[in-house]
Amino acid sequence: MHELSVCQALLAQVEQVARENAAHSVEKVVLRIGPLSGVEPRLLQDAFPIARAGTVAASAELVIEELPLTVRCQNCGAETAAAPNRLICGACGDWHTQLISGDELLLASIELTKS
Ligand SMILES: [Zn+2]
Repeated sequence: MHELSVCQALLAQVEQVARENAAHSVEKVVLRIGPLSGVEPRLLQDAFPIARAGTVAASAELVIEELPLTVRCQNCGAETAAAPNRLICGACGDWHTQLISGDELLLASIELTKS
């Protein structure tokens, strides 16, 4: 399961941050995911409880913020929202577009407990 390995990689990062901050435990992990990141938020939520077991984030909550998909048009220069299967300009309809955001998989923030 792809999402489980993504979760494990994520928790490795979380554990490192927790260690660097001498944290006792992790309360919350906030992730930002774009529609073209290749991971399914729902599957990630399912995999998280499995991956977090035995880590410093064993009781942490996973919050997923889904990012919009944005393209910049090479024809008219507009930056518009697009659908994952249809990366066309929302202003002029041209398909010569460049992806600006939408493929992110970012660890946005972590809430730690120190006592
Ligand atoms: Zn355009």
